[in-house]
Formats: sequence, structure tokens, C-alpha cells
Amino acid sequence: MTGITPRACTAHALRARNIDGIDYVGMDLIDVQSVRIARTRNDVVLGPGERPMGGGTWLFSEPQPGLTGLVDLAGLDWPAITDTGDTLSVAATCTIATLSRIRPRAEWHAHPLLAECSDALLASSKVWTTATVGGNVCASLPAGAMISLAASLDATALVWAVDGDDYRVPVRDFVTGATTNVLRPGDVLRSIDIPSSALRARTAFRKISLSPLGRSGAVVIGRRDADGAFVLTITAATDRPVQLRFDTTPSAVTLRHALAAIDNWYDDPHGAPDWRRSVSAVLAEEVRGELDVPRT
Ligand SMILES: Cc1cc2nc3c(=O)[nH]c(=O)nc-3n(C[C@H](O)[C@H](O)[C@H](O)COP(=O)(O)OP(=O)(O)OC[C@H]3O[C@@H](n4cnc5c(N)ncnc54)[C@H](O)[C@@H]3O)c2cc1C
Repeated sequence: MTGITPRACTAHALRARNIDGIDYVGMDLIDVQSVRIARTRNDVVLGPGERPMGGGTWLFSEPQPGLTGLVDLAGLDWPAITDTGDTLSVAATCTIATLSRIRPRAEWHAHPLLAECSDALLASSKVWTTATVGGNVCASLPAGAMISLAASLDATALVWAVDGDDYRVPVRDFVTGATTNVLRPGDVLRSIDIPSSALRARTAFRKISLSPLGRSGAVVIGRRDADGAFVLTITAATDRPVQLRFDTTPSAVTLRHALAAIDNWYDDPHGAPDWRRSVSAVLAEEVRGELDVPRT
């Protein structure tokens, strides 16, 4: 199936060579020869040089050597959000804007985290309403705001495997490094499944950047579960998510020691590793203090 989405056309100025025909050309991805719209699972079987496209906001933001074809996942028409009671299932094609605006259930104390993490991706509303949750997770940038959200809430990624042997992996383990993840060529992320138990937990969010509107240098999220367990998730400051888990809220000293053992602080123009280590320690202590106060 070949075609062009008005969405992609608008967002990325894809130029149709022939509106009824087969081939379309990305104006800024000059090697792209075709854009297929996936409507069924068979359509996401990728050919040589093809990659899946969510919103395309990252794909069209830098050169993509070897990329000759795009498969637009939006045509699969997956429901953006499915609330089963036990799980909030977020389709990979759900946009960041949609996720940030879902109505909370009364018991979802963690609901503000949806907007807080979405806000951490500082971009125009055009990007927000186009970029997908799956695209953000699969781009696997350290500052992946949906990675921060999903990892901190113990979400699981459901992957349509290229060999048909679909699998699940915790999002905190999905990302293996800066722009790397567990996907094999041809694997497609289907959904991110958030357990309702995590949504019922209390959370505290901190983010810091080198400049007021800069990309996240560190995102520190704390979660205190109903049974008292304390979970601290660090992203953006490290090349992949780091999670520290405690049965109860740790003391300041215990937390400091646990943070001192982290050895994958990230280094890029958005922050040096020693700065990221220092600010993460400050933010983690703030989060610990916020969640240590009993709920009123
Ligand atoms: C102004 C601006 C600010 C930005 N700020 C940030 C930021 O703070 N943090 C950040 O992380 N990013 C940022 N980005 C980069 C990018 O926009 C986001 O990461 C966005 O969420 C990517 O989503 P997308 O749907 O557009 O992904 P796409 O561009 O469509 O895809 C990204 C990658 O994931 C793959 N992919 C997409 N969907 C799937 C799927 N379901 N299964 C398998 N592979 C898939 C694609 O093949 C591609 O390799 C920014 C971009 C802009 C333009």
C-alpha cells in the first residue's frame, strides 16, 4: 500500500510526485523514494532501506543515511488510549499532546506527571501534536520525555517482533544507551502499557536545563507506592534510564550513596557529566523530601 498522509505532507513538506501514483519524495530526506501508509500488520513488514515513521519530527530533523522508504504507522488507526482498569495502554502512535490531555481517574495521583513529562519536551505545538509516544521512546534520546514518564511508572513496551514472536520489555530496559534500544531491525513498538497501580502512586517531578527553554539536562522522578515503596528514576542526565528502588523512603545518606554508584552520566552540549551528577543529587533529595511528607 502506498500513499501519502496529509499529516505528513503538512508537517514535513513531503512533495507528491504524482498524487495518484506510487512515489513521494521527502524534500529534506532526499534519498527517500517512497512513503507507504501501513493499514495492517503485513504492511509493517519493512523492505530494505525502510523505517517506520511515527510523527516524523525526529526523522526529518537530521540526515538519515541509508533511509530510502518510510512506513507511516498512523494508518494503522490504533486507539490512542485504552484504559482496561488494570492498565493504561498507550498506542505507539498516540501523540504527546493527546497523552498529556487525558482525563484523570480520581485515584490517579500520578496524573500530573503526564503533563509534566510532556512539558519537558520543549517544542512548538506543531511538534507536540505530531510527535508520537512511540517515536519518542524509539528515538531513545537521553532527554526522551516519554521515556522518563514510562520508565518512572514501570510501564512495559509491547513490541511486534519481526519474526512474529512478540515480546514485552520494561521501558526502563528498552533504552540501552543514547539513541540505542532493544529493537531489532523490523521490530515495531506497538504500545506502552502503564500499570494502574503506578498511576495511583504519589509522584514528584524535577527537571533542570542549562537554559530556561533548553533541552533537559536532568529529569528526576520519584514515586511512592501505596505499600510505601520508593522508586527514583533518573533520565536525561544519564545515557539510559537509571532506576533506584527502595522498600521504604530512604534516608538522605542512603539515597546519596545509591546515587554515587551511578556511572553512566551523559555528556553532550546540554550538560557535562559532573554537572549532571551534581544537579541530579540535589533534585533527588528534593524529590525524597517531597514524598517523605505523609499525604494530607
Ligand atoms: C523543537 C524540537 C524539540 C525536541 N525536543 C526533544 C526533547 O526534548 N526530547 C526528545 O527526546 N526529543 C526531542 N525532539 C525530537 C523528536 O521530536 C521527539 O523525540 C519526538 O517525540 C519523536 O517522535 P516522532 O513520532 O516524531 O518520531 P519519528 O521521527 O517518527 O521516529 C523517531 C524514530 O523512531 C522510529 N519509530 C517511530 N515509531 C516507531 C515504532 N512504533 N516502532 C519502531 N520504531 C519507531 C523511527 O523509525 C525513527 O527511527 C525534539 C524535536 C524538535 C523538533
